[in-house]
Amino acid sequence: MATSSAYLSCPATSATGKKHVFPNGSPGFLVFGGTRLSNRLVTRKSVIRADLDSMVSDMSTNAPKGLFPPEPEHYRGPKLKVAIIGAGLAGMSTAVELLDQGHEVDIYESRTFIGGKVGSFVDRRGNHIEMGLHVFFGCYNNLFRLLKKVGAEKNLLVKEHTHTFVNKGGEIGELDFRFPVGAPLHGINAFLSTNQLKIYDKARNAVALALSPVVRALVDPDGALQQIRDLDNVSFSEWFLSKGGTRASIQRMWDPVAYALGFIDCDNMSARCMLTIFALFATKTEASLLRMLKGSPDVYLSGPIKKYIMDKGGRFHLRWGCREVLYETSSDGSMYVSGLAMSKATQKKIVKADAYVAACDVPGIKRLVPQKWRELEFFDNIYKLVGVPVVTVQLRYNGWVTELQDLERSRQLKRAAGLDNLLYTPDADFSCFADLALASPDDYYIEGQGSLLQCVLTPGDPYMPLSNDEIIKRVTKQGLNT
Ligand SMILES: Cc1cc2nc3c(=O)[nH]c(=O)nc-3n(C[C@H](O)[C@H](O)[C@H](O)COP(=O)(O)OP(=O)(O)OC[C@H]3O[C@@H](n4cnc5c(N)ncnc54)[C@H](O)[C@@H]3O)c2cc1C
Repeated sequence: MATSSAYLSCPATSATGKKHVFPNGSPGFLVFGGTRLSNRLVTRKSVIRADLDSMVSDMSTNAPKGLFPPEPEHYRGPKLKVAIIGAGLAGMSTAVELLDQGHEVDIYESRTFIGGKVGSFVDRRGNHIEMGLHVFFGCYNNLFRLLKKVGAEKNLLVKEHTHTFVNKGGEIGELDFRFPVGAPLHGINAFLSTNQLKIYDKARNAVALALSPVVRALVDPDGALQQIRDLDNVSFSEWFLSKGGTRASIQRMWDPVAYALGFIDCDNMSARCMLTIFALFATKTEASLLRMLKGSPDVYLSGPIKKYIMDKGGRFHLRWGCREVLYETSSDGSMYVSGLAMSKATQKKIVKADAYVAACDVPGIKRLVPQKWRELEFFDNIYKLVGVPVVTVQLRYNGWVTELQDLERSRQLKRAAGLDNLLYTPDADFSCFADLALASPDDYYIEGQGSLLQCVLTPGDPYMPLSNDEIIKRVTKQGLNT
C-alpha cells in the first residue's frame, strides 16, 4: 500500500452479468490499487487479473485443510487513514483487516443499517426483516475466519448434508451428500442416488459430469480450473446439453440451484460459475455442507462484526452517502483520488483520507465511477455487469408448512416441525426458501406461532411493481401448490 496518495479499491459484489457471472460467495474485494489511476494502472490490470485467477486457483489447490485460512502477512508501513464506502460484508471485512493491521478506519453507509445485502433490521412490530435468505457453504473459508476473529463462529448452525428439493404436491427430492466416505465419493453417490431426477436424466447427468473438468479437478485441480475458466463465455445450459445432459435435469435440478447461487437460470449462468462450484463440491467434502445463522443477521453476523470494528476504534457513519469520488490529474496525466463528496440529508462534507475503498453494490459503484475513468477498460467493464432484481418475502403461518409427512404435527403449535434446511423448488417463482422458525430459530421461532417462510423470488422483475398484498397472495398460492 502506498502512503503518498490515495488509492481506490472496489469489492467484487454479487452482481451478475449475462454469461459473466461471479459466484456469490465470499466478500472478497479486488484491490486495483496503484496509487494512481493512469496508464500504470492499465499495466497493473494484468496483475489484478492474475491475482483474481490465483484466488480461484487457491480455492482448490492451496486452500487450507481446516476452516480458517492463515492471517495475511503483517503490514509494516505507516498507519493510514482509510475511508470505506459501504457497510456491507465487503466494507466491514475490509475494515476488520485494516484495523488489525493498525490503520484508522471510517465506514460511510448511505442506509440506516449496516450489513448491505446480508443486513437485517427490526420493524415497528419487533419482527426481524432480512434483506435476503442467506446460507453459508462449507467452502466460505474467509467468512469463517472473519466470524472466528469477531467471536461469532458459534453463530452458525450446521444443517444436514443434503440438498432438498420440494416439488409440486409436496414431493421431496434429495441430493444427499450424507455418506460414510468423503469427497469425491460422497458427491458421486449423491448424484447417482438422487431421486430429484428420473433414471434417464440421471444417467445423462452422470455422463455430462463425467465429461466435465470436475473429474480432472480430482487429480489436477489447477489444470481443471484453467479449463473451467475458459468456459466463461458459454452458458451452463449450452455446455451441459452439449455433453449429453438433458433439459429436464436443468429444469428439475440445475435451474433451482443456479437461481439460488446467482439469481439467474442455467441459460444465463456461465458454465464457469457452475463448474467452479461443482469442482469445489467434488474435491472438498465440506464444501457442499450448509450452515445458517442461529437467528437474524443483525444480531448474529453484522452485530458482532460491528462490535469488533468499534472496539478497535473504527467508526460507522450511517446515512452518509458518497455522492462523488473527487480526483485530480497530475502534470504527467495520471489521476488520483483526492476526496469523497458526502451527504446526509441536507448536510454535506468532503472526506479526505490516505486511502479509499469503494465497497459498494454494483448499481452503487456505477453511480460513483467518474466518467473519465471509463476510458480505462477495468472501470468500463463494471458497466457490463447487469444487476438481477430479487424480491425476498417473509411469511408467518399459524402451522408448520414444511411438515409434509404428518398433518397433526403440521397443525399443532406446541413445538416446531418440518424441514430444517435450505429448500430448493423448481415449481414456484421462488427458487429457494427456508422456514426460519426452524432453521434460524433464535429470533424467528415464536411460541404459539408457526413457520416463518423466507422465499427468494427470482427473477424479481415481475413482482417489483406489485403491491405487498398482491405479492403475498401470489407467493402464498405458490407455496400451497408446492
Ligand atoms: C436475496 C439474497 C440472498 C443471498 N443469499 C446468499 C447466500 O445464501 N450465500 C451467499 O454467499 N451470498 C448470498 N447473497 C449474496 C450476498 O448477500 C452478497 O454477495 C454480499 O452480501 C455482498 O456484500 P457487499 O458488501 O459486497 O455488497 P452489499 O451487501 O450490497 O453492500 C454494499 C453497501 O454499500 C452501500 N452503498 C452503496 N453505494 C453507496 C454510497 N454511494 N455511499 C454509501 N454507501 C453506499 C449500500 O447501501 C450497501 O449497504 C444473497 C444476496 C441476496 C440479495
